[in-house]
Amino acid sequence: MCSSSVIYGHKVDLIAMLDTTVVQEFQEIVGTNHALQEEALTATYTADWTGRFQGKSPMVLRPADTSQVSELVKLAARAGLSIVPQGGNTGLVGGSVPLNEEIVISTLRMDHCEPVDVLAQQVTVGAGTTLANAQAHVSPFNLDIGVDLAARDSCTIGGMIATNAGGINVVRYGPMRDQLLGIEAVLSDGSIISHLEGLEKDNTGYNFPGLLAGSEGTLAIITKARLRLHPRLNERCSAMIAFKTVDDAVVATSQLRRTLPALQAVEVIFGEAMSLVSDHIGASVPVGLGSQAWLIVEVAAANDPTDQLANAIDDLGPLAADVAVGLDTATRNGLWEYREKITEAIATQGTPHKLDVTLPASRLSEFVNEVPSLISTVDGQATAVMFGHLGDGNVHVNILGADGNEPDEGVDDAVLNYVAELGGSISAEHGIGTAKREFLHLNRTEAELAAFRAIKRGLDPRGILNPNVLLPPEDS
Ligand SMILES: Cc1cc2nc3c(=O)[nH]c(=O)nc-3n(C[C@H](O)[C@H](O)[C@H](O)COP(=O)(O)OP(=O)(O)OC[C@H]3O[C@@H](n4cnc5c(N)ncnc54)[C@H](O)[C@@H]3O)c2cc1C
Repeated sequence: MCSSSVIYGHKVDLIAMLDTTVVQEFQEIVGTNHALQEEALTATYTADWTGRFQGKSPMVLRPADTSQVSELVKLAARAGLSIVPQGGNTGLVGGSVPLNEEIVISTLRMDHCEPVDVLAQQVTVGAGTTLANAQAHVSPFNLDIGVDLAARDSCTIGGMIATNAGGINVVRYGPMRDQLLGIEAVLSDGSIISHLEGLEKDNTGYNFPGLLAGSEGTLAIITKARLRLHPRLNERCSAMIAFKTVDDAVVATSQLRRTLPALQAVEVIFGEAMSLVSDHIGASVPVGLGSQAWLIVEVAAANDPTDQLANAIDDLGPLAADVAVGLDTATRNGLWEYREKITEAIATQGTPHKLDVTLPASRLSEFVNEVPSLISTVDGQATAVMFGHLGDGNVHVNILGADGNEPDEGVDDAVLNYVAELGGSISAEHGIGTAKREFLHLNRTEAELAAFRAIKRGLDPRGILNPNVLLPPEDS
């Protein structure tokens, strides 16, 4: 793989070339309206959702279909240009923006959904389809996409595959990788691989969907995906349960997972996050003011699962300090608002460092209780805002510095080392991106990193696909 300095040095000359032949060739492929160069037009593609990672790009290209992506990649490869693939640009680890003046290939125009295959319960969609549009496309057939998350109106199926997105229903359906039955993608030499038949059983060699899930744009540009669909479960009931201690919430989560066959989601909001989000949405804490943790539990089934949830909550006994139940859509949405608006509420406070981690169940409460004091030893003015998907052991640790500034860089190091010490993962669902690549060694051995590099070299020998993410620079 090329080192980043070589790629960068290479590019300085080539940017000059972009003014002439290369620009024209790019324009011919996608049309001048979709080859953006002016900074006013490229700005939304070069800064990430959090505002923490900002880059620059000589050109943002918006292809209409797979063959245009292939032509763009061939041209970029010939010209020695590096590429950042981008979907909805909602990623939270800085992986979707051009940090070293790469060109950006945006998939947003590739949003065609093919007819739903009701017989097989599958659908093929363009990589640029937003999650919300994919959900709307399959819902008339009483079918649903297995992954759901709060960025659904903007995040794309291609981006969700590239990050192996998790979200709120992993406890039932698994992450994005588990939804994939086939993939189409453009490799770094412009060749197209396409395997979209959607056969449930197909042991004909290496599994490209599995390999590309979580590859963060470093191995190929995903152009289409064949997704497994699930029966849409219209009968739903949600509850918010308050707990006096984090440990009580962890024990209750385990019990609910054992006793609730219709369990669809178990989300958690810890103290600081609850006060921030209730201020943000202008509402009071619905139950258990002063508690340390709140679970939002949702059950979904073909027949009304309310009694199932009520019995399971009864069985929690004194573990549950207080409960609010949402039976109809309006009250259910009201409870979910506290969970879904947290990321937005944090963004109003400044630019956080977002650490998305998984802990073994047995170490979860110890971690959540220790993190605030651990952070204060590094940055006395930093605050930790924590929430997450407790059903999967996934905690989002958002660290805000004083007065909206970023916290001291050392907080990432302290928290991620602590995660590794407790046997957890430094990235649960957001990926490694650029934010965490220097920490990858905490979870991956030298042998694993060598195998990663061999795969990268094999599929992208010039290192032109998203060179700033996932793998640490070789000299680090
Ligand atoms: C409010 C909010 C809530 C969120 N909640 C969750 C959550 O619950 N769970 C979760 O997992 N994430 C969550 N996220 C993070 C984010 O939405 C996901 O990571 C999502 O999968 C990114 O999709 P995207 O289309 O925006 O990808 P982008 O941000 O555009 O890109 C993300 C990465 O994928 C690569 N990429 C994008 N498209 C392609 C493609 N077609 N081919 C190859 N590589 C590609 C990019 O290069 C980049 O490395 C949340 C974000 C926000 C803002």
